[in-house]
Amino acid sequence: MWYSNKAPIIERKYSKSIIHHFKIGSHLGLTINPYQGCQHRCGYCYATYKWSPNFYDKIYGKINAAEILESELNKWKNTSMLPVMISSATDAYQSAEAKFGITKKCIQVLQQYHIPFYIFTKSSLIERDLDLFSKYSDDCFIVWSITTVDEKLRRIIEPGTPPASRIFETINKFVESGIKCCVNIDPIIPFITDGEQQIRNIVNKCQQSGLGNISGSVLRLRYDIWPRIREVLELIDLSWAIKEYEQIYGFQEPILHENNLTVDERYADKVMSSLKYEIFNRNIEFGFEKLMEQISRMKQECPVSLQQCRISEFL
Ligand code: SF4
Repeated sequence: MWYSNKAPIIERKYSKSIIHHFKIGSHLGLTINPYQGCQHRCGYCYATYKWSPNFYDKIYGKINAAEILESELNKWKNTSMLPVMISSATDAYQSAEAKFGITKKCIQVLQQYHIPFYIFTKSSLIERDLDLFSKYSDDCFIVWSITTVDEKLRRIIEPGTPPASRIFETINKFVESGIKCCVNIDPIIPFITDGEQQIRNIVNKCQQSGLGNISGSVLRLRYDIWPRIREVLELIDLSWAIKEYEQIYGFQEPILHENNLTVDERYADKVMSSLKYEIFNRNIEFGFEKLMEQISRMKQECPVSLQQCRISEFL
C-alpha cells in the first residue's frame, strides 16, 4: 500500500553488480540504483513491480555499491562511456541516503573516473552534496521530478516526498551554484494534476528559480498502478473520473496484462500542448536533450554488450 504512516524497515544488502543498461523505446542508457525500494511512496510509481511487493516498506541500501562500481569501471578503463543515470528504479536521495551515504560514494567514484552523470530525484537531501556537483558542473545535471505544488494533493499522491516549496529552495541553490538543472513534470496525472492552472503554477515556480529546462509527460498506467490511482480519485472525490480513465486509456477493469497503457493521443496532445505553451512563453526549453549533449563526451555505443547487463525499466 503506498499510503501509510509506518516508517519503512531499512536494511543493508550486498550487490553483485551495480551499473546496468536501461531501455526506453530505442534509447539505451546506463543506470545505477544505490537502493532497492523507495520511501517516497508515490502512488503512481513505475518501479513497483510484482517482484518488489515491499517496495515502499523495505528499503535496502546496497552497501558495497561504490566498491562494485569502481571494479566495474576498472574493467572499462580507457574506453568512453555514456552518461550514467542515477537512478532509474529508486530515489538515490531518499532518507536512507542520510544514513548510508551510498549515493555520495558512487558519485565520488564516477567523478574519479571522469564519467558524466545525471540524477533524477524528488529530494532536498541532495543539497548535502552541492559542493560535489559544483566541482563537476560541466559533466552532470540534476532533474527534479515535481508533480504538483498543491501541498494537500502531494500529501495524498506522494506522501513521502518533501513539499514542492522545499524542493524549489534546493533548486534555487543549485541554479545559483551554476549546476545544470531541469524540472520534470512527470507524471501528469489525468484529472488529478493535469489542470492548466496546476501546470502553470509549477512552470511559474520554475521560472522564478531561473530554470532553463522543463520536461514532462502523461502518466502511463499499469495493472498495479491503476488500483492506486483509482483510490486517489476516490480519496479526493473524483470517483466520476474512473470511467474517464477507462476511456482515455482504453481498458476495462480489471487490467489483466502487465504492459503499460498510454493515454489516448488527443488527450496527450491537449495536455502536452498546454505545458509547452507555458514553457515557450517563458523562453524555457522543453526537455533535457541539450543538457545530455553537453555532458556526453562520446557518440559511439558503450563497449559493454547488452547481454552482459540487465535491462531495467526507466522510471
Ligand atoms: S521517488 Fe521515484 S522511485 Fe521513489 S516512490 Fe516516487 S516514483 Fe517511485
